[in-house]
Amino acid sequence: MRSQAPFRVVPDIPYYTEPREFYVLRMSKGINLRELRSYASMLFEKPEGELTVEDYKLAFLHRVPFPLISTSGNEYRITVKKCNGRWTLACNCKGWIYSSIRKCKHTEHVRKMMENSREVRNELS
Ligand SMILES: [Zn+2]
Repeated sequence: MRSQAPFRVVPDIPYYTEPREFYVLRMSKGINLRELRSYASMLFEKPEGELTVEDYKLAFLHRVPFPLISTSGNEYRITVKKCNGRWTLACNCKGWIYSSIRKCKHTEHVRKMMENSREVRNELS
């Protein structure tokens, strides 16, 4: 019997390490990678070919703030803001707003998600 090769979607850009939670959210918003690429290019004022995996992740958070629900039931939104000329993760909780180092447990949670997904990357330059 002849077996057919399974159909595969070949990514056209180096964004293999998208955190699963980002992927699910991105699909729910119907944003494809081409849109995300041009969004990141516009946001960071970089040619599309010079975008890094990190740029994609940050641009996604800028476009679609990531919702986190705390154990006390409060919902926070993690996004990206420019602080002192640098793009950084931002949260709408009091902890972040009053933090001089621009961090809170919610931004750190999302940062870890982004970093863990980076560990599987090995084919990128
Ligand atoms: Zn927070």
